[in-house]
Amino acid sequence: MNQTGLKTTCAYCGVGCGVTVPTENDRQVNVSGDAQHPANRGRLCVKGTHLGDVLPLKDRLLVPSVHGEPVSWDLASQTIADKIRQAQAQYGANSVAFYLSGQLLTEDYYAANKLAKGFLGTANVDTNSRLCMASAVAAHVRAFGEDAPPSCYEDVEIADLVVVTGSNLAWAHPVLFQRLQAARAEQPSKKMVVIDPRKTATALEADLHLAIKPGADGQLFNALLVYLDKHQACAREYIAEHVSGYAQTLAAATLDVGTDSRIQAELCGLPEADLLAFFALFAQTPKTTTLWSMGINQSESGVDKSNAIINVHLATGRIGQPGASAFSITGQPNAMGGREVGGLANQLAIHRGFDADSIAQVGAFWQASHMAQKPGLKAVDLFDACLAGDIKVLWIMATNPVASLPDANKIRAALAQVETLIVSEVVQSTDTLDCADIRLPALAWGEKDGTVTNSERTISRQRPFLIAPGQARADWWALATVAQKLGFTDAFAWHHAHEIFREHARLSRLNRATALSFDLSAVADLSLAEYQDWLPQQWPLDGTTRTPRLFGDGQFPSHDGRAQMVPISPISVDQPDGGDYILNTGRLRDQWHTMARTGYAMALNQHSPQFELHIHPNDAEHNAIVNGDLVAVRSDLGSFYALARIDAAQQPSELFAAMHWNRQFASHGGVANVIASRVDPISGQPASKHARVQLAKQTSQANGFLFIGDGQPAPDWLNELLWFKTHTRQGTLYRFFSLQQSLADFIALRSQDGTPCTMSLTDSSQQSAQWIGQDAGGLQFWLSIHRAATPWPDSLFLDRAAEQPNPGLSLNALLTGQQDDAPIRGKIVCTCFSVTDSQITDFLQSHAQASLSTLQTALCCGTNCGSCLTEVKTLMKDKASARTASADALC
Ligand code: SF4
Repeated sequence: MNQTGLKTTCAYCGVGCGVTVPTENDRQVNVSGDAQHPANRGRLCVKGTHLGDVLPLKDRLLVPSVHGEPVSWDLASQTIADKIRQAQAQYGANSVAFYLSGQLLTEDYYAANKLAKGFLGTANVDTNSRLCMASAVAAHVRAFGEDAPPSCYEDVEIADLVVVTGSNLAWAHPVLFQRLQAARAEQPSKKMVVIDPRKTATALEADLHLAIKPGADGQLFNALLVYLDKHQACAREYIAEHVSGYAQTLAAATLDVGTDSRIQAELCGLPEADLLAFFALFAQTPKTTTLWSMGINQSESGVDKSNAIINVHLATGRIGQPGASAFSITGQPNAMGGREVGGLANQLAIHRGFDADSIAQVGAFWQASHMAQKPGLKAVDLFDACLAGDIKVLWIMATNPVASLPDANKIRAALAQVETLIVSEVVQSTDTLDCADIRLPALAWGEKDGTVTNSERTISRQRPFLIAPGQARADWWALATVAQKLGFTDAFAWHHAHEIFREHARLSRLNRATALSFDLSAVADLSLAEYQDWLPQQWPLDGTTRTPRLFGDGQFPSHDGRAQMVPISPISVDQPDGGDYILNTGRLRDQWHTMARTGYAMALNQHSPQFELHIHPNDAEHNAIVNGDLVAVRSDLGSFYALARIDAAQQPSELFAAMHWNRQFASHGGVANVIASRVDPISGQPASKHARVQLAKQTSQANGFLFIGDGQPAPDWLNELLWFKTHTRQGTLYRFFSLQQSLADFIALRSQDGTPCTMSLTDSSQQSAQWIGQDAGGLQFWLSIHRAATPWPDSLFLDRAAEQPNPGLSLNALLTGQQDDAPIRGKIVCTCFSVTDSQITDFLQSHAQASLSTLQTALCCGTNCGSCLTEVKTLMKDKASARTASADALC
């Protein structure tokens, strides 16, 4: 592993891994894990390993524009300043809003928050972190008095029991999962319990998987509290000295779930024996850490559920102790940094709210001309205000709300009502950018310069190693430029991100007079050289010696120094209306959010190239659906289409689709079309995890695929079809379906588009047709349409181990259902070494006694980032079971 070179931080999840980049200003770079970074100690998951694949400038937004006309930054920022001034003069301060992102650096976040809340007088500043962990934030404040996660990553290694709830940790936070797995491998007595309706990659590795009824997690933890009390497993002395609300909380939990474990198990949809096994394990294991994430937070009762988790840890004194804590894992790389600066609409800054003292103190520090006086609109309310015409200027930075907020059609309609929509983006097209009046080219990972804070409160540097392309600029610079044009010259006269960080740290000095933990005052006078040399450090940074954990001494930053157990009864179980099926949503191993970056990395498209709907075999049979069928998912709000994947790991009557697809990758959009804008009443976090839907198989008149080489425009006729798009080697691959046009109509339509072809073929029975265009640069165009289901050429276009597709060979092979003369390699399991499931099972077929290490020595699968290890082990288990079954049959 190359440990020389520049050190920076991964762009994706909240684990916040350190990354080493060997050379500067190289967009073909291979990155490696930073062995010195405390979050990952050299490890990277598959997304981090392929960070170098998203650096090419293909599809980058490089020039500012106003209403589609390229303009200078000077004109763009003057236009924005004028629009803000006009809107506020005519409609008031709150007619201007900002919608930010956990992808922003802390310095960018700080600039936006200061401009809005200190100088424009509006707290309408919210962030996509509202969709990620706002419920956990509110629960921390209710329980501890501050949004201060008490744990650190080491806890998952030290714990004797790790409970994972509402998180597919193996795919969403892979390096943390690998740390947990390594600790379990070293000490097999350590246990992991996974609470998840689906048998996820994480659940497959669990000692106990509780396939809970969707949304019933809160009731499970209420029932656990009742059990702990009944079995004298609560820490009475700790509670007496440090915790309020025990009796009321226990009474409320008992009211919610009763004391009968049989009934509790029914409420949770679990076998009673499993429920009791979990309760006993929790009661008997002092070193227990519970991890939770979006599966808990994205709920109409996400705050209550988070508090139900914290309640059992407070009741047992397991908060801020080595290996014993309640640990909310954030989704995004800088969700935590956004919380520090006040990036949520209900926060002011530095963990302060909108009380009179905080407004006065922060206002005085900023020398603010127009302080916001009360909380602003949370994300869903903010976009409702847009729809109502109340927001005249909206500036969206580094996020894609049309694709990520629920009810995509409503969000699109809301943006249409905003008079001036400004979007700062990295790529040329997203579902949100396509609605913008003013487009601003932002810096991407590798170009940005600033800090991020991960889930365990560690602040790390993101360092630039690439020259900024075109006119792309830092987001803080864009904000400061507009602020200057509004006349706020002194307050935004920064020249470098370092000056912003230092100002933020100085502001945090105000917290010295409070019990709040968030304090960076020890680095408030940091020099530029020290900022450049910054090594990862965990806050609080107040100059005192602290442990990596908070509240281990039982002292909490509440008004009386005690933690608060929160009575919750009843915990509502999300009950979306209508539909025969519950749609669950989640993430894929190799993709990130709306795929604006990972969707362009061919290596990351290999594992799950298609937008798939996972369906239990019984439901598939009931609907006469087979693998690969086109299916429609509908709710009262809208619909989306996907390809069927029959999956025995699904629960009956439940479906699963990944949250990543949107109109850039699927013509009719993704799961956001069918999810309602129901929110938690305290946190305002949308319940994006579940929706009630209808399922229907779709019959197409014709279907096929289209490959177009890089730089070639997509033909217009594609707009009349239903398609799914994948970026591949040297081009873009569409899989399409014609719901209305017959094959003959389609052939006529295609014949008029004038695309030059070097080869074409229509079979005599009019069952299929193909057109191919090649030049000296290779394949430029390949259209294949069929009346019956078309073989899908994933392996031709996406397999890095395969040769460039050769239509001359492949044409005939496709028509006869074979692909080239080479055997189909199968589905990619290991992205790093392009190893497929067929290769693994073939090896196991000929090496019946092979161990994991023998397999890895032969094929290398799982030896780099390890993200595929669960799948590799599952294939081994399946093969072993098949062998046993056939041996039994012979006996
Ligand atoms: S776990 Fe993967 S995606 Fe998350 S920070 Fe680490 S390398 Fe990046």
